[in-house]
Amino acid sequence: MFEKLQQALSSGPAPSPSVVALAAVLALVPVVCNSQLLAGRAVAVSHEATPFSVPAGSPDEFMQAGADFARELDPTVEVSYWQEQAGSLSVSRVQKGGIRCMVRLSPDASTALQPLGRFLNGRLDLKAQVMFALAHEVGHCKLREAFLKLPDGRAADASTFPWLAQEAAADAYGILSTERKLGASVPVRQAVVISRMLASAMYRDANHATGHYVSDALALCPLDRSDDDAVQCAVATAYFTVGSLANDELGSPYPVDSAPQLIYELGVKKMADHMRVYRDIGQYSAQFSGADLSRFAFNEISRQGESRYITAATGQQTDATYRLADYYGFKTGELATDGRRSVTALRIDGPGELDWLLTLGAVVRTEDGQSLSKGAGRN
Ligand SMILES: [Zn+2]
Repeated sequence: MFEKLQQALSSGPAPSPSVVALAAVLALVPVVCNSQLLAGRAVAVSHEATPFSVPAGSPDEFMQAGADFARELDPTVEVSYWQEQAGSLSVSRVQKGGIRCMVRLSPDASTALQPLGRFLNGRLDLKAQVMFALAHEVGHCKLREAFLKLPDGRAADASTFPWLAQEAAADAYGILSTERKLGASVPVRQAVVISRMLASAMYRDANHATGHYVSDALALCPLDRSDDDAVQCAVATAYFTVGSLANDELGSPYPVDSAPQLIYELGVKKMADHMRVYRDIGQYSAQFSGADLSRFAFNEISRQGESRYITAATGQQTDATYRLADYYGFKTGELATDGRRSVTALRIDGPGELDWLLTLGAVVRTEDGQSLSKGAGRN
């Protein structure tokens, strides 16, 4: 499994047939061009100076085992490694009526586990820590998928949940999944809850201060027979966390030792006011536009067939192209634009990827002066 991934990550793309096709088209239009100009243009056609691929790295044995576990939880997950990444991160991409989970992490287990590992060390062995970290990331995707594919066929967006609730949900999914795999004798939940409490106290990281929410919400999850149970637990934990936050805001009408079910129901009520529900995933895809990339505009510098090469237009700041591509899993490489200079570019292959980029909130200025974007208030 892993070798296949490695192969896919390291093999460069075949020479693009569209470059050849474009050259052929240019060769066929001498009617209006003088031949010297034509020759000049043919040379100016940009080409890939390096292979375009998603960032790769060589995972250590723990990360390999973790990636295998992630694929057990979600057979279509795309795991890739990012040298500069501390911690781990996941992004889910809506495509073809479904959802594709992409997890990016450091190839090195101790880096991938920062900062949680510091507090998990001594409580869980490294392999179990990595499994939890990967399952946590897959949990983010599963939560999103559960709302995009509601039992009645409609679609809602889990990103409406406050970030803390999403983190707590991913923790709950990660705990149940790891326990199901390793057996309840491995103290996953105790270790994770304590580590979250210590890490949030130490780093004042409010978004990951999930410890006591997860600890209480797990009472809502007595069963852990299957992945479905873990997903249900993630959903319940997200609502529970919202209910807890709402209870605090209201001056704690429910005392701290209230039944978790009451807090959960408060969360359901609270979210019902906020969460927009779409007819189905198709309507969601057509209308939803996230804000992740709304600060960023991209310039299309070349188009070859279905592929667009774009760079982040960031003004005087450092070129953010590579960092953004890295983060969202787009292919990057060097594009030679005029025979002398190479620029780092993202390659957007086909309408599906373009749609995803726009769904993230990006604006793309095309070569012919169009401005592509999605969502209200822009076009
Ligand atoms: Zn997370």
